[in-house]
Amino acid sequence: MATAVNTRADKVAHLSHFIDGRFVPTARSHFENRNPATGAIVNLVPEADPAVVDDAVKAAKRALKGPWGKMSEQQRSAILRKVADGIMARFDDFLAAEVLDTGKPKSLAAHIDIPRGAANFNIFADQVLTLSTETFRTATPDGAGALNYAIRVPRGVIGVICPWNLPLLLLTWKVAPALACGNTVVVKPSEETPTTATLLGEVMNEAGVPPGVYNVVHGFGGDSSGEYLTRHPGVDGITFTGETGTGTAIMRAAADGVRPVSLELGGKNASLVFADCDLDKTIEGVTRAVFANCGQVCLGTERVYVQRPILAAFTQRLKAAAERLQPGNPFDTATTIGPLISQAHRDKVLSYYARAKADGAEIVTGGGIPALPSPYSSGFFIAPTIWTGLAETSAVMREEIFGPCCSIVPFDDEDAAIALANDSPYGLATAIWTENLARAHRVAAQVEVGITWVNAWFLRDLRTPFGGSKQSGIGREGGVHSMEFYTELRNVCIKL
Ligand code: NAD
Repeated sequence: MATAVNTRADKVAHLSHFIDGRFVPTARSHFENRNPATGAIVNLVPEADPAVVDDAVKAAKRALKGPWGKMSEQQRSAILRKVADGIMARFDDFLAAEVLDTGKPKSLAAHIDIPRGAANFNIFADQVLTLSTETFRTATPDGAGALNYAIRVPRGVIGVICPWNLPLLLLTWKVAPALACGNTVVVKPSEETPTTATLLGEVMNEAGVPPGVYNVVHGFGGDSSGEYLTRHPGVDGITFTGETGTGTAIMRAAADGVRPVSLELGGKNASLVFADCDLDKTIEGVTRAVFANCGQVCLGTERVYVQRPILAAFTQRLKAAAERLQPGNPFDTATTIGPLISQAHRDKVLSYYARAKADGAEIVTGGGIPALPSPYSSGFFIAPTIWTGLAETSAVMREEIFGPCCSIVPFDDEDAAIALANDSPYGLATAIWTENLARAHRVAAQVEVGITWVNAWFLRDLRTPFGGSKQSGIGREGGVHSMEFYTELRNVCIKL
């Protein structure tokens, strides 16, 4: 099928914004979107100026009053199912685009990113059909009473700002519930991964989503399209996933106009490995938690606390697992770890590798850049790395690195493990590894995070509340919790 986006490694395409159901060519400056596995240019991407963002917001505003605003929940739900089907019908295009933009192994994107992108539309197509509100019968002095009931209305135009680590998955996680509830959206995908958001425009048109309901503007964050979008007074709510610092800036922007925000932010997550764990399962789980997607997962583990009796065995086995990871061509099925997203991000992660050394860490494995043949030698690969011996005060232990690395630290008892896990400004996720059920419940109740796994990592049921405590975010996504953000409740009181 002819497509407006590039899904091939051997040609460079021009991307467009997608506004009012059309791909909008623009003469304004284009930036290069590079394949992180090779450094080659994938797309030239336009940067939206304030006028382009304004066009997109106005198109979204008009669409609220058009057929979309008049549709029943059943009709919207049926269209969203067609969007899910459309993603699956174009599975190979989405897969190729995601792999070229991110460099992640094709096997990973085929297993998680693309199917979840489609599943997000199906789950919220279901969810919207079962949304309920409250009613109250209220006493009045005349004895006749009053009936109070709440109605749900869409918030309006939602600004959607997304990161690059799970581009389609995280974007659809916001777009699907927003549309299910009758909102319209203007999406600003990450400058690093603009392609699948654009391709989704084609699917929206094919599925019968009316023009203006889904819009995409490209560009950067501060002083670019991201900031223009969050500051635009026509945007009625903002949903953001990304770094905590960016979330803070977006919250400030949203204060003008007192607009609601949903923020899914960074993490510095702990795994707590107790001596009574099943070591085989734990090694498998912690290996994924640390190294999946080259460590670029908000839920990933960068602090691994291990009970002292199994410290040596655990460390030796995690080292072996890290050394088995195979970097290289993401399209090759033998590849199990891709590159970091960009040269700039690799420089940042390498600065933490240097910092760990300076802070006296012992390097268990890794620590540098792996030697790979051309063209992957020009990619942004980095060695999976494990440290021991770091103090809790080291920046490596406190700041989110977002790379394939972790620090192993021993603990003696349950209270110490909980205290270590909670000693962080972040509060996104914790994974507890133990075969002791009572311990699992005790610890889960005390860790200060939004998501706790016991003997699992990244095991998701999309109906459950997802989000961070402390500086890891505000609000919850998933199931009915997403719908709470994308609708406003209005109360009606009728005197009987
Ligand atoms: P980022 O904050 O740098 O960028 C995210 C998006 O925000 C991009 O589209 C960017 O262009 C835009 N942006 C940047 N500055 C902006 C501004 N001032 N105004 C408006 N938009 C702006 O994050 P990233 O590097 O793309 O992603 C990695 C981060 O995302 C990590 O911190 C990770 O933990 C976090 N993350 C969190 C979750 C979660 O669910 N909690 C999920 C995935 C990623």
